[in-house]
Amino acid sequence: MQIDLSWLKLHPKSAEEFRLEKDYSGLELIQGVRLFGRVLVSLTVTNTGRLMVGQGEIKAGLEMDCDRCLGIFCQEIQMPITVEFCEEENRRFFKDEESFIYFEDPKVNLEPVVQGNILLSLPLRVLCSDECLGLCSKCGQNFNQGKCQCRDEEIDPRWEALKKML
Ligand SMILES: [Zn+2]
Ligand SMILES: [Zn+2]
Repeated sequence: MQIDLSWLKLHPKSAEEFRLEKDYSGLELIQGVRLFGRVLVSLTVTNTGRLMVGQGEIKAGLEMDCDRCLGIFCQEIQMPITVEFCEEENRRFFKDEESFIYFEDPKVNLEPVVQGNILLSLPLRVLCSDECLGLCSKCGQNFNQGKCQCRDEEIDPRWEALKKML
C-alpha cells in the first residue's frame, strides 16, 4: 500500500487524489484483532510547499475476539485519516516533528500509518456488544447463549438470612 508523490513534488500548491486498496485478510494487528477483506484508503494530498498534507478516509473490516465472552465477531470501520509527508531535505524546518512521515523516495509506504490509525480507533475493551453478558466464571457457559446450571445451585439469600437466625 504505497502512494507515489513524484508528480506532486514537482507541482507546489497542487493536490492529487489517491485511492488505495489491499487485501490484508488474516493479518493480526494486536492479539484478538485481525483484518479481514480489503482495506480501502482514499486520500487527497496537497503540496503546501514544504509539506504535503493528506486528508481522507480509511475503510476496513475487522474480525475481533470479544474481551468478555471470547466470541469472534466482525465489524466494519470507517474513519478519517490525516497524514503529513515531509521530504528529508525539509526536515530541518520542522525540528523532527514526530508525527510526520519523512521521505526521500517519493514512493511512500502507507501501511504503518494506516494500521496505526486503525489500532488507535479501537476501544480499550473490545466487546461484541455493550450488552454482552460474558461467561460463567464457574463452568464457562456463554450467557449470551443461555443460562447454565451453576446459578440454580446458588443459595437463595432468603435461606441464607434464615440460617443466620437459627
Ligand atoms: Zn461478547
Ligand atoms: Zn456456570
